[in-house]
Amino acid sequence: MFEEESNCFRHPLSDGRWRNFFAAAARLLPQEVRRELRSHALCIRRAVEELDPWMDAACAETCPTCRDPCCTAGGIFYNLADMLYLLGLDEAFPLGQTRTRPDAPCRYLGPGGCRLPRIYRPYVCVWFLCEPQARRLTDEPARFQRRVAELYRRIRSHRLALLETARPFQPHLEDV
Ligand code: SF4
Ligand code: SF4
Repeated sequence: MFEEESNCFRHPLSDGRWRNFFAAAARLLPQEVRRELRSHALCIRRAVEELDPWMDAACAETCPTCRDPCCTAGGIFYNLADMLYLLGLDEAFPLGQTRTRPDAPCRYLGPGGCRLPRIYRPYVCVWFLCEPQARRLTDEPARFQRRVAELYRRIRSHRLALLETARPFQPHLEDV
């Protein structure tokens, strides 16, 4: 069983390679594997949807005055678990990797913040809480904090399960 997420695809990617990944996965993965991916992806989606209102409120409070916005950092990418999650959701995929060149900004960053719904963002953009937001969380009732920790644990475990499910096909998927 995987204990850590793969770094595979955590780098700039052309839109062609991004599309190739999803086309190759659709071709290679048997229906039962796709169904298993979907079931994990839906559990992750539900957990992110539950986190979403609190995170939206936290961002509304902290981001407008931020002097060092996290979205301008260069190292944010979809990794393999993110891409398997998107595949499992089986909806319209985001256009591509966050950037096609190392020096480019994240393509999803707009004037009002991220243009992607939270459920479609790389997971690093969901779990990351900057200092003011982490402080805000510690001000919440203990019960709420336990719930957030439980949702993070749940997401992590389903993301590792996505990787485990696709493990036999990983070398082919990495090679697109
Ligand atoms: S999440 Fe935190 S670090 Fe990122 S832009 Fe908002 S306030 Fe700044
Ligand atoms: S995907 Fe959205 S949240 Fe993540 S770095 Fe890009 S703009 Fe920010």
